[in-house]
Amino acid sequence: MHASTRLQTLTDDPSGGWEIFERARAMIRDGTPVIELTIGEHDIRTDPRILEAMDKAARAGHTGYAAVPGTATLREAIASRVAKRTGVPTTPSNVLITPGGQSALFAAHIAAGEPGDRAAYLDPYYATYPGTIRAAGLIPTALQTAAQHGFLPQKTDLLADTKGCCSLLVNTPNNPTGGVYPRTTAQDILDVAKTNDLWIISDEVYDTQDWTQEFVSLRSLEGAAERTLTIGSMSKSHAMTGSRIGWIIGPDPVIQGLITLATHTTYGVPGFIQDAALHALSLGPKFEAEIAAPFLRRRNAVLELLEGQNIVKAQPSGGAMYLMLDIRATGLSGKDFADQLLDEAHIAVMPGESFGQAAAGHIRLALTQPDSILIEAVKALLRFASQGRY
Ligand code: PMP
Repeated sequence: MHASTRLQTLTDDPSGGWEIFERARAMIRDGTPVIELTIGEHDIRTDPRILEAMDKAARAGHTGYAAVPGTATLREAIASRVAKRTGVPTTPSNVLITPGGQSALFAAHIAAGEPGDRAAYLDPYYATYPGTIRAAGLIPTALQTAAQHGFLPQKTDLLADTKGCCSLLVNTPNNPTGGVYPRTTAQDILDVAKTNDLWIISDEVYDTQDWTQEFVSLRSLEGAAERTLTIGSMSKSHAMTGSRIGWIIGPDPVIQGLITLATHTTYGVPGFIQDAALHALSLGPKFEAEIAAPFLRRRNAVLELLEGQNIVKAQPSGGAMYLMLDIRATGLSGKDFADQLLDEAHIAVMPGESFGQAAAGHIRLALTQPDSILIEAVKALLRFASQGRY
Protein backbone atom coordinates (compact mmCIF):
# COMPACT_ATOMS: atom_id res chain seq x y z
CA MET A 1 0.00 0.00 0.00
CA HIS A 2 1.19 3.51 -0.81
CA ALA A 3 0.59 6.65 1.17
CA SER A 4 -1.48 9.25 -0.68
CA THR A 5 0.11 11.61 -3.19
CA ARG A 6 -1.03 14.42 -0.94
CA LEU A 7 1.13 13.05 1.86
CA GLN A 8 4.06 12.24 -0.38
CA THR A 9 4.11 15.73 -1.91
CA LEU A 10 3.70 17.67 1.30
CA THR A 11 7.18 19.16 0.94
CA ASP A 12 9.48 19.59 -2.08
CA ASP A 13 12.41 18.78 0.10
CA PRO A 14 11.96 15.83 2.47
CA SER A 15 14.55 17.20 4.90
CA GLY A 16 12.74 20.56 4.88
CA GLY A 17 16.12 22.28 4.43
CA TRP A 18 17.47 20.79 7.63
CA GLU A 19 20.37 18.70 6.14
CA ILE A 20 23.01 20.70 7.97
CA PHE A 21 21.18 20.23 11.24
CA GLU A 22 20.89 16.46 10.61
CA ARG A 23 24.54 16.24 9.61
CA ALA A 24 25.64 18.15 12.73
CA ARG A 25 23.57 15.85 14.93
CA ALA A 26 25.12 12.79 13.26
CA MET A 27 28.63 14.19 13.87
CA ILE A 28 27.77 14.75 17.54
CA ARG A 29 26.46 11.18 17.81
CA ASP A 30 29.76 9.96 16.36
CA GLY A 31 31.70 11.86 19.02
CA THR A 32 32.70 15.07 17.18
CA PRO A 33 31.87 18.17 19.23
CA VAL A 34 29.88 20.62 17.11
CA ILE A 35 28.65 24.07 18.13
CA GLU A 36 25.05 24.19 16.98
CA LEU A 37 23.67 27.57 15.95
CA THR A 38 20.85 26.00 14.00
CA ILE A 39 17.62 25.45 15.87
CA GLY A 40 15.32 28.02 17.49
CA GLU A 41 15.39 26.39 20.88
CA HIS A 42 16.45 28.21 24.06
CA ASP A 43 19.60 27.07 25.83
CA ILE A 44 17.62 27.09 29.09
CA ARG A 45 14.82 24.69 30.02
CA THR A 46 11.29 25.54 31.14
CA ASP A 47 11.36 27.42 34.47
CA PRO A 48 10.90 25.19 37.55
CA ARG A 49 7.95 27.34 38.71
CA ILE A 50 6.10 26.46 35.51
CA LEU A 51 6.99 22.79 35.91
CA GLU A 52 5.71 22.85 39.49
CA ALA A 53 2.39 24.28 38.28
CA MET A 54 2.24 21.53 35.65
CA ASP A 55 2.96 18.83 38.23
CA LYS A 56 0.45 20.26 40.69
CA ALA A 57 -2.28 20.42 38.04
CA ALA A 58 -1.64 16.87 36.88
CA ARG A 59 -1.61 15.51 40.44
CA ALA A 60 -4.83 17.40 41.21
CA GLY A 61 -6.46 15.40 38.44
CA HIS A 62 -6.30 17.66 35.38
CA THR A 63 -5.23 14.68 33.26
CA GLY A 64 -8.54 13.85 31.61
CA TYR A 65 -9.87 15.40 28.40
CA ALA A 66 -9.74 19.16 28.71
CA ALA A 67 -12.28 21.51 27.11
CA VAL A 68 -11.58 21.40 23.36
CA PRO A 69 -11.43 25.22 22.82
CA GLY A 70 -9.10 25.57 25.82
CA THR A 71 -9.81 26.02 29.51
CA ALA A 72 -12.00 28.99 30.38
CA THR A 73 -9.26 30.53 32.53
CA LEU A 74 -6.55 30.28 29.87
CA ARG A 75 -8.79 31.59 27.09
CA GLU A 76 -9.68 34.51 29.33
CA ALA A 77 -6.02 35.19 30.14
CA ILE A 78 -5.01 35.10 26.46
CA ALA A 79 -7.95 37.29 25.47
CA SER A 80 -7.04 39.96 27.99
CA ARG A 81 -3.34 39.74 27.07
CA VAL A 82 -4.18 40.25 23.39
CA ALA A 83 -6.64 43.06 24.18
CA LYS A 84 -3.97 44.82 26.24
CA ARG A 85 -1.24 44.39 23.63
CA THR A 86 -3.37 45.41 20.63
CA GLY A 87 -5.95 47.81 22.06
CA VAL A 88 -8.60 45.78 20.20
CA PRO A 89 -11.49 44.31 22.24
CA THR A 90 -10.82 40.58 22.46
CA THR A 91 -12.91 38.04 24.35
CA PRO A 92 -12.49 34.30 25.03
CA SER A 93 -14.74 33.62 22.02
CA ASN A 94 -11.96 35.06 19.83
CA VAL A 95 -9.44 32.55 21.22
CA LEU A 96 -8.74 28.90 20.43
CA ILE A 97 -5.95 27.20 22.40
CA THR A 98 -3.92 24.92 20.12
CA PRO A 99 -1.07 22.42 20.44
CA GLY A 100 1.57 25.05 19.57
CA GLY A 101 1.75 27.80 17.00
CA GLN A 102 2.42 25.19 14.33
CA SER A 103 -1.01 23.67 14.73
CA ALA A 104 -2.54 27.17 14.78
CA LEU A 105 -0.87 27.91 11.43
CA PHE A 106 -2.49 24.82 9.94
CA ALA A 107 -5.90 25.71 11.40
CA ALA A 108 -5.64 29.29 10.12
CA HIS A 109 -5.07 28.08 6.57
CA ILE A 110 -7.99 25.67 6.78
CA ALA A 111 -10.10 28.68 7.78
CA ALA A 112 -8.71 30.96 5.06
CA GLY A 113 -9.30 29.13 1.80
CA GLU A 114 -11.14 26.54 -0.22
CA PRO A 115 -9.16 23.48 -1.38
CA GLY A 116 -7.00 24.53 -4.34
CA ASP A 117 -6.91 28.24 -3.46
CA ARG A 118 -3.53 29.97 -3.53
CA ALA A 119 -2.13 31.03 -0.16
CA ALA A 120 0.72 33.56 -0.15
CA TYR A 121 3.71 33.77 2.17
CA LEU A 122 6.90 35.80 2.14
CA ASP A 123 10.27 34.39 1.15
CA PRO A 124 12.52 33.99 3.19
CA TYR A 125 10.18 31.98 5.36
CA TYR A 126 10.04 29.67 8.33
CA ALA A 127 10.75 26.28 6.79
CA THR A 128 7.44 24.59 7.62
CA TYR A 129 5.21 27.18 5.90
CA PRO A 130 4.77 25.65 2.42
CA GLY A 131 4.13 22.17 3.84
CA THR A 132 1.61 23.53 6.33
CA ILE A 133 -0.22 25.34 3.54
CA ARG A 134 -0.28 22.17 1.39
CA ALA A 135 -1.50 20.12 4.37
CA ALA A 136 -4.47 22.50 4.56
CA GLY A 137 -5.26 21.77 0.89
CA LEU A 138 -4.06 25.16 -0.41
CA ILE A 139 -1.37 25.99 -2.96
CA PRO A 140 1.69 27.69 -1.46
CA THR A 141 2.62 30.87 -3.31
CA ALA A 142 5.99 32.35 -2.29
CA LEU A 143 6.44 36.10 -2.68
CA GLN A 144 10.06 37.15 -2.97
CA THR A 145 11.44 39.90 -0.77
CA ALA A 146 14.88 41.37 -1.33
CA ALA A 147 18.05 41.52 0.75
CA GLN A 148 18.53 45.19 -0.17
CA HIS A 149 15.16 45.98 1.48
CA GLY A 150 16.09 44.06 4.62
CA PHE A 151 13.67 41.39 3.34
CA LEU A 152 10.67 43.66 3.97
CA PRO A 153 7.80 43.28 1.49
CA GLN A 154 7.21 46.21 -0.87
CA LYS A 155 3.63 47.37 -1.32
CA THR A 156 3.48 47.38 -5.13
CA ASP A 157 4.88 43.84 -5.31
CA LEU A 158 2.49 42.63 -2.63
CA LEU A 159 -0.45 44.15 -4.43
CA ALA A 160 0.40 42.48 -7.74
CA ASP A 161 1.55 39.14 -6.36
CA THR A 162 -1.34 38.41 -3.99
CA LYS A 163 -4.08 38.92 -6.60
CA GLY A 164 -6.32 35.85 -6.57
CA CYS A 165 -4.85 34.51 -3.30
CA CYS A 166 -7.04 33.74 -0.30
CA SER A 167 -4.51 34.71 2.35
CA LEU A 168 -1.17 36.32 3.08
CA LEU A 169 0.97 34.79 5.81
CA VAL A 170 3.36 37.24 7.47
CA ASN A 171 5.74 36.88 10.40
CA THR A 172 6.99 39.62 12.68
CA PRO A 173 9.43 39.49 14.48
CA ASN A 174 10.72 37.32 11.70
CA ASN A 175 12.24 33.90 11.51
CA PRO A 176 14.68 33.56 9.74
CA THR A 177 15.66 37.23 9.17
CA GLY A 178 15.42 38.62 12.72
CA GLY A 179 13.64 41.64 11.21
CA VAL A 180 10.65 43.44 12.74
CA TYR A 181 8.13 45.04 10.39
CA PRO A 182 7.90 48.81 10.84
CA ARG A 183 4.39 50.26 11.19
CA THR A 184 4.43 51.37 7.53
CA THR A 185 5.02 47.78 6.37
CA ALA A 186 2.24 46.48 8.63
CA GLN A 187 -0.10 49.14 7.22
CA ASP A 188 0.91 48.22 3.65
CA ILE A 189 0.06 44.59 4.37
CA LEU A 190 -3.38 45.56 5.66
CA ASP A 191 -4.05 47.90 2.71
CA VAL A 192 -3.15 45.14 0.26
CA ALA A 193 -5.27 42.60 2.16
CA LYS A 194 -8.25 44.95 1.93
CA THR A 195 -7.74 45.66 -1.78
CA ASN A 196 -7.27 42.01 -2.72
CA ASP A 197 -9.72 40.67 -0.12
CA LEU A 198 -7.21 38.46 1.70
CA TRP A 199 -7.08 36.95 5.11
CA ILE A 200 -3.96 38.09 6.96
CA ILE A 201 -2.40 35.23 8.88
CA SER A 202 -0.01 36.95 11.24
CA ASP A 203 2.55 34.71 12.90
CA GLU A 204 3.58 36.61 16.02
CA VAL A 205 5.17 33.81 18.05
CA TYR A 206 8.26 36.00 18.68
CA ASP A 207 6.26 39.00 19.89
CA THR A 208 8.13 39.30 23.20
CA GLN A 209 11.50 39.40 21.43
CA ASP A 210 11.48 42.87 19.92
CA TRP A 211 14.56 45.07 20.27
CA THR A 212 13.19 48.00 18.29
CA GLN A 213 10.13 48.88 20.40
CA GLU A 214 8.45 48.98 16.99
CA PHE A 215 6.67 45.65 16.97
CA VAL A 216 3.16 46.15 15.61
CA SER A 217 0.61 43.36 15.94
CA LEU A 218 -1.34 43.30 12.68
CA ARG A 219 -4.56 42.94 14.68
CA SER A 220 -3.95 46.33 16.30
CA LEU A 221 -4.38 48.26 13.02
CA GLU A 222 -7.70 49.99 12.37
CA GLY A 223 -10.02 47.64 10.47
CA ALA A 224 -7.65 44.65 10.64
CA ALA A 225 -9.32 42.42 13.24
CA GLU A 226 -12.13 41.21 10.96
CA ARG A 227 -9.65 39.77 8.41
CA THR A 228 -6.74 38.79 10.65
CA LEU A 229 -5.93 35.44 12.22
CA THR A 230 -3.14 35.91 14.75
CA ILE A 231 -0.86 33.03 15.71
CA GLY A 232 0.61 33.04 19.21
CA SER A 233 2.61 30.60 21.29
CA MET A 234 4.20 30.03 24.69
CA SER A 235 7.17 28.32 23.01
CA LYS A 236 9.48 31.29 22.54
CA SER A 237 8.12 33.79 25.08
CA HIS A 238 8.19 31.37 28.02
CA ALA A 239 10.73 28.73 26.92
CA MET A 240 8.00 26.11 26.65
CA THR A 241 8.72 24.67 23.19
CA GLY A 242 8.13 21.05 24.24
CA SER A 243 4.84 21.78 26.00
CA ARG A 244 3.18 22.39 22.62
CA ILE A 245 0.88 25.22 23.53
CA GLY A 246 -0.20 28.16 21.43
CA TRP A 247 -3.33 29.88 20.16
CA ILE A 248 -5.15 31.44 17.29
CA ILE A 249 -7.06 34.71 17.58
CA GLY A 250 -9.77 35.57 15.10
CA PRO A 251 -13.38 36.62 14.57
CA ASP A 252 -15.89 34.71 16.69
CA PRO A 253 -17.56 32.66 13.88
CA VAL A 254 -14.17 31.54 12.53
CA ILE A 255 -13.07 30.45 15.99
CA GLN A 256 -16.36 28.52 16.31
CA GLY A 257 -15.51 26.69 13.09
CA LEU A 258 -11.98 26.03 14.26
CA ILE A 259 -13.29 24.55 17.52
CA THR A 260 -15.17 22.04 15.34
CA LEU A 261 -11.95 21.39 13.43
CA ALA A 262 -10.12 20.82 16.75
CA THR A 263 -12.85 18.41 17.86
CA HIS A 264 -12.13 16.33 14.77
CA THR A 265 -8.33 16.58 14.82
CA THR A 266 -6.43 17.44 18.02
CA TYR A 267 -9.26 17.19 20.55
CA GLY A 268 -7.63 19.99 22.50
CA VAL A 269 -4.52 20.48 24.60
CA PRO A 270 -3.76 18.63 27.88
CA GLY A 271 -5.32 20.43 30.86
CA PHE A 272 -2.17 20.29 33.00
CA ILE A 273 -0.21 21.98 30.19
CA GLN A 274 -2.85 24.71 29.97
CA ASP A 275 -2.70 25.23 33.74
CA ALA A 276 1.08 25.50 33.51
CA ALA A 277 0.72 28.06 30.71
CA LEU A 278 -1.70 30.06 32.84
CA HIS A 279 0.82 30.07 35.66
CA ALA A 280 3.59 31.05 33.23
CA LEU A 281 1.54 34.05 32.06
CA SER A 282 0.98 35.07 35.69
CA LEU A 283 4.77 35.47 36.07
CA GLY A 284 4.28 38.67 34.06
CA PRO A 285 6.30 40.84 31.66
CA LYS A 286 9.40 40.82 33.87
CA PHE A 287 9.73 37.07 33.41
CA GLU A 288 9.16 37.38 29.65
CA ALA A 289 11.87 40.04 29.50
CA GLU A 290 14.26 37.69 31.34
CA ILE A 291 13.63 34.96 28.77
CA ALA A 292 14.18 37.39 25.88
CA ALA A 293 17.24 39.22 27.31
CA PRO A 294 19.99 36.73 26.31
CA PHE A 295 19.03 37.02 22.64
CA LEU A 296 19.39 40.81 22.60
CA ARG A 297 22.66 40.61 24.53
CA ARG A 298 24.07 37.99 22.16
CA ARG A 299 22.84 39.83 19.09
CA ASN A 300 24.68 42.94 20.28
CA ALA A 301 27.84 40.93 21.00
CA VAL A 302 27.80 39.40 17.50
CA LEU A 303 27.16 42.78 15.83
CA GLU A 304 30.17 44.14 17.73
CA LEU A 305 32.34 41.28 16.45
CA LEU A 306 31.27 42.08 12.89
CA GLU A 307 32.58 45.64 13.16
CA GLY A 308 35.99 46.17 11.62
CA GLN A 309 35.52 43.71 8.75
CA ASN A 310 33.23 43.84 5.75
CA ILE A 311 33.09 40.29 4.41
CA VAL A 312 30.21 39.23 6.64
CA LYS A 313 27.40 41.76 6.99
CA ALA A 314 24.36 41.55 9.24
CA GLN A 315 20.90 42.17 7.87
CA PRO A 316 18.90 44.68 9.96
CA SER A 317 18.05 42.84 13.15
CA GLY A 318 15.13 43.90 15.29
CA GLY A 319 14.04 40.81 17.16
CA ALA A 320 13.59 37.05 17.51
CA MET A 321 16.43 34.70 18.37
CA TYR A 322 18.25 34.93 15.03
CA LEU A 323 20.72 36.95 13.01
CA MET A 324 20.80 36.75 9.22
CA LEU A 325 24.30 37.27 7.86
CA ASP A 326 25.10 38.18 4.27
CA ILE A 327 28.14 36.12 3.23
CA ARG A 328 27.98 36.85 -0.51
CA ALA A 329 31.38 38.59 -0.39
CA THR A 330 33.00 35.19 0.24
CA GLY A 331 31.82 34.03 -3.19
CA LEU A 332 30.16 31.00 -1.58
CA SER A 333 26.48 30.10 -1.51
CA GLY A 334 24.90 29.93 1.94
CA LYS A 335 24.79 26.15 1.58
CA ASP A 336 28.47 25.78 0.63
CA PHE A 337 29.49 28.18 3.38
CA ALA A 338 27.48 26.23 5.97
CA ASP A 339 28.77 22.87 4.70
CA GLN A 340 32.40 23.92 4.76
CA LEU A 341 32.07 25.68 8.12
CA LEU A 342 30.65 22.48 9.59
CA ASP A 343 33.41 20.31 8.13
CA GLU A 344 36.29 22.61 8.94
CA ALA A 345 35.29 24.44 12.09
CA HIS A 346 32.60 22.11 13.48
CA ILE A 347 30.12 24.96 13.66
CA ALA A 348 26.60 24.40 12.38
CA VAL A 349 24.59 27.32 10.95
CA MET A 350 21.55 27.28 8.68
CA PRO A 351 22.05 28.19 5.01
CA GLY A 352 19.76 31.00 3.83
CA GLU A 353 18.69 28.67 1.03
CA SER A 354 16.92 26.51 3.63
CA PHE A 355 14.39 29.33 3.94
CA GLY A 356 13.58 29.82 0.25
CA GLN A 357 15.32 31.67 -2.55
CA ALA A 358 15.41 35.25 -1.31
CA ALA A 359 18.05 34.59 1.36
CA ALA A 360 20.51 32.79 -0.94
CA GLY A 361 24.07 33.80 -0.09
CA HIS A 362 23.14 34.28 3.55
CA ILE A 363 23.36 32.19 6.69
CA ARG A 364 21.13 32.27 9.74
CA LEU A 365 22.61 32.13 13.22
CA ALA A 366 20.37 30.99 16.05
CA LEU A 367 21.58 32.88 19.13
CA THR A 368 20.91 29.85 21.27
CA GLN A 369 24.32 29.07 22.77
CA PRO A 370 25.76 30.56 25.97
CA ASP A 371 27.46 33.91 25.22
CA SER A 372 31.08 32.72 25.50
CA ILE A 373 30.52 29.74 23.17
CA LEU A 374 28.62 31.89 20.67
CA ILE A 375 31.37 34.52 20.65
CA GLU A 376 34.12 31.96 20.04
CA ALA A 377 32.01 30.38 17.27
CA VAL A 378 31.46 33.73 15.55
CA LYS A 379 35.17 34.57 15.79
CA ALA A 380 35.93 31.24 14.10
CA LEU A 381 33.22 31.91 11.50
CA LEU A 382 34.81 35.27 10.69
CA ARG A 383 38.26 33.69 10.36
CA PHE A 384 36.78 31.12 8.01
CA ALA A 385 34.98 33.80 5.98
CA SER A 386 38.06 35.98 5.60
CA GLN A 387 40.57 33.22 4.81
CA GLY A 388 38.39 30.74 2.99
CA ARG A 389 39.43 28.26 5.63
CA TYR A 390 39.19 27.88 9.38
N1 PMP B 1 6.31 30.26 13.59
C1 PMP B 1 7.62 30.52 13.56
C2 PMP B 1 8.10 31.68 12.76
C3 PMP B 1 8.52 29.69 14.24
O1 PMP B 1 9.83 29.96 14.21
C4 PMP B 1 8.01 28.59 14.98
C5 PMP B 1 8.91 27.63 15.73
N2 PMP B 1 10.23 27.66 15.47
C6 PMP B 1 6.62 28.38 14.97
C7 PMP B 1 5.81 29.23 14.28
C8 PMP B 1 5.99 27.23 15.70
O2 PMP B 1 6.18 27.32 17.05
P1 PMP B 1 5.44 26.38 18.09
O3 PMP B 1 4.65 25.37 17.33
O4 PMP B 1 6.51 25.77 18.93
O5 PMP B 1 4.55 27.30 18.85
